[in-house]
Amino acid sequence: MADRNRRPAFVAALLGAILAVCLAVTATSAVAANRRAAADCSAGYVGLTFDDGPNASNTANLLNALTSNGLRATMFNTGQNAQNHQALVRAQRDAGMWIGNHSWSHPHLTQLGSSQMLSELQRTQQVIQQATGTAPRLFRPPYGETNATLRSVEQQLGLTEVLWDVDSQDWNGASTAAIVQAAGRLQNGQVILMHDQYATMLAAIPQIAAGLRARNLCAGMISPATGRAVAPDGGTTPPTSPPPGGACTATISQGQQWGDRFNLSVTVSGSNAWIVTVTMTPPQRVIATWNGSPSWSSGGNVMTMRPNGSGNTFGFTVQHGGNWSWPAVSCRTS
Ligand SMILES: [Zn+2]
Repeated sequence: MADRNRRPAFVAALLGAILAVCLAVTATSAVAANRRAAADCSAGYVGLTFDDGPNASNTANLLNALTSNGLRATMFNTGQNAQNHQALVRAQRDAGMWIGNHSWSHPHLTQLGSSQMLSELQRTQQVIQQATGTAPRLFRPPYGETNATLRSVEQQLGLTEVLWDVDSQDWNGASTAAIVQAAGRLQNGQVILMHDQYATMLAAIPQIAAGLRARNLCAGMISPATGRAVAPDGGTTPPTSPPPGGACTATISQGQQWGDRFNLSVTVSGSNAWIVTVTMTPPQRVIATWNGSPSWSSGGNVMTMRPNGSGNTFGFTVQHGGNWSWPAVSCRTS
């Protein structure tokens, strides 16, 4: 009797417990889904780099694999390949990739004289600029071979040399598992060497993406200022929350140019209370500004511009000192 009376209460308690567990599981998966939706970059950024492209057999598949896994990368193209596959260079850009210079013909540059070095790098700058409208700011020497002469040629062209911290060994017959493992060693700010060529690498991309996600690392851009991986907007700290007052975008465009200087203008959208940071590469110097209120870093190469009541477009004149590359701009709201 007593047993029979207690049984319904026991069953109800049991059902209640099961329901509670189910709710807890549901809640946990909802949290996991949210984490997946908004990438957590709290552990920082790494630079994925792919050399030697673009090519007809692999590049389209590579871009597909990267974008479908939410990854952005830096593609170090040779000038020769860029010339032969200009549409693929544009496809790289349109897929959100950054494009770097990997010499024209992939020679052992340190065995060449400075004028040959200059030609290898300059022709590549030109063909990539023709294809995409933007000249690269990053250079990776073939085979990672560099010397003082090469570095001075790079500097002349406003290029930052980027080597690597981790070698995926994809070029050396590494298996997909070994490539994934190599990517697992990447730490905040570091760069990994990979190639736009190998099926083993292509197969590794979903697992590389999952591995980074699991460690709260994101694929970032390589900063032309430091050669290290940073957040895609060029900031050095991972964004943990949206900037106060919402976001803004700064777009740079070319104005008049002369032998020793050129004009640029920056248009801001998304906010009227903006602060734009413009980072010049020495020996560049800003010698005039208009339609904004500037302040300067102690080194003089970083200009912080605020509105002065003249609208959301300001301009400035850069004395280039032989370096024609455009400064990096980033926008935040006040
Ligand atoms: Zn290479």
